[in-house]
Amino acid sequence: MIAMCPNCGGLNNIPKERLNNKPNCGKCKSPVYSGQPINMSGTQLTRAIEKTNELLVIDFWATWCGPCKIFALAFKQVAEQLEPKARFIKIETEKEQVISTKHNIRSIPTLAIFRNGKEIDRISGALSAPDFTNWVNQHI
Ligand SMILES: [Zn+2]
Repeated sequence: MIAMCPNCGGLNNIPKERLNNKPNCGKCKSPVYSGQPINMSGTQLTRAIEKTNELLVIDFWATWCGPCKIFALAFKQVAEQLEPKARFIKIETEKEQVISTKHNIRSIPTLAIFRNGKEIDRISGALSAPDFTNWVNQHI
């Protein structure tokens, strides 16, 4: 599994059987998995999509969006439960407009799943925590 360190952006090649052993980054020694969603810039997201083979679950959100704030709690809760089987990433669409346009984000929240450089699923609108878990689990 090629995973990107949330602290330094370094790429780590982690054997599947070691994913649950709280691996540390080979470069900066920080934990590769924190059980928390990661706020990324557009550049970081593109790198994660192109260079890793993790299941990337992305929440495109905005500060003014009420449903986004409610969904953020479910996103955090499910990240705690499912990491390291998936990587949970947040993109603030107003700050990261280039990447949001690139991925054709027309409404928020939009939830998208990427793996191996490709988008494999997308949902527009917030989900309950159980529905969100089920949706992510379909791709794990
Ligand atoms: Zn690192």
